[in-house]
Amino acid sequence: MSGHRRLIVKNAVLDGEVVSLTALDGLITAIGPEAGSASSPGDAPATETFNAGGGILSPSLVNGHTHAAMTLFRGHGDDLPLMRWLQEAIWPVEAKLEPEDVYWGTRLACLEMIRSGTTGFWDMYWQSASTARAVEDAGLRAVIGPPLFDAPDKTFEERNSELEGWLDELAGFGGHISGAVAPHAIYTVGTASLEYAVGLAEERGLPIHIHLSETEGEVDDCVATHGMRPAAYLDSLDMLTPKTTLAHGVWLDREELELIADRGATVTTNPVANMKLAVDGVFPYPDAARAGVPVALGTDGAGSNNSLDLLTDLKVFALAQRHNAADAEAIPMSEAWAIATGQRSELIRSLGRPGLPASDPLTVGAPADFTVLDPKAPELSVGDLTSALVYAASGTVVKDTVVDGKVLMRNRQVEGHEEILTRARERAARLFS
Ligand SMILES: [Zn+2]
Repeated sequence: MSGHRRLIVKNAVLDGEVVSLTALDGLITAIGPEAGSASSPGDAPATETFNAGGGILSPSLVNGHTHAAMTLFRGHGDDLPLMRWLQEAIWPVEAKLEPEDVYWGTRLACLEMIRSGTTGFWDMYWQSASTARAVEDAGLRAVIGPPLFDAPDKTFEERNSELEGWLDELAGFGGHISGAVAPHAIYTVGTASLEYAVGLAEERGLPIHIHLSETEGEVDDCVATHGMRPAAYLDSLDMLTPKTTLAHGVWLDREELELIADRGATVTTNPVANMKLAVDGVFPYPDAARAGVPVALGTDGAGSNNSLDLLTDLKVFALAQRHNAADAEAIPMSEAWAIATGQRSELIRSLGRPGLPASDPLTVGAPADFTVLDPKAPELSVGDLTSALVYAASGTVVKDTVVDGKVLMRNRQVEGHEEILTRARERAARLFS
């Protein structure tokens, strides 16, 4: 008996042509007019066939920075600035978090991501094993970073062994999950802990995921304390490598962007969260592009966004760049789309699976992670498709979502939808009671 899984998608449209797509064991094996009839290796694999109904085959989106379980915090502390939002609305409630809160909050996030065409994400949050379990049950992929903070109530060794235990747990999950070392930020993690994080990431071969340069105050404090700007400070600790992603980067200057490009680290911009928390700046994308920095797009957590719909954030990203630069050519549509689909950062798109083709997600050998867009969506009905996706569409144009060759949403129906809403509401009510 064969253990292989085969998916055949028929009657999809790619570049105006009707095509089929075949995947075997989660990897694309053929795309084209004749792909559906191609035989695949293995004896009698379990085959799922679905008719895309003339829907448009599209690369899926990758969310480069979020805190998935924070869907439970949606609608709390909305009118507060960053530090007051953290200190008054978030941290006191996080102290009450139980594993089931994180599980159902993450399931809610995954439901929203599947429905808006995101197939993988970079997460940083507490109770990381609960996040991993939820991601696996939802069928998505995630790189999960249990956060590293300086903890006044624990010794350095206690805190480190706790973190290493969480990373051990994550290593026990299947291929959809991988771990990251995630020091929260330079204003919550001291130099000794950042040095430890660098050593731990190297020892375990893990990426590093950190918030950086979200506010001007963070930059000023870094210069006052360390005598250098944040990117230079991280570089002095050997933290800038091709396996590092920096969330935000709003206040990076040109010299820092050149340093980041030289080291090959990624910057993940979160324009909606930045605007909502009023950080008084815009990630300098034109300078980053000129320097050659790998760039990704993230939503940040639903507590500070409040949506996980990357297509709506993509429009905000492109508009903010044009507006901030007073230049309608600040970001080409094709670049904006490539960034949202993870194609401008191999680290982000590969989601912990290095060596897979990241630059073209719809190609033979790539993971079978893609979407089928609704051919009847008014937003997609006339004009250039990339323009429609960047400037007109929201996640509702996504009809089907496929991850690892498995159909997670078919005609906008996701298994378990009702239960996820019910359980997430119960968990949120408990936290805020
Ligand atoms: Zn964040």
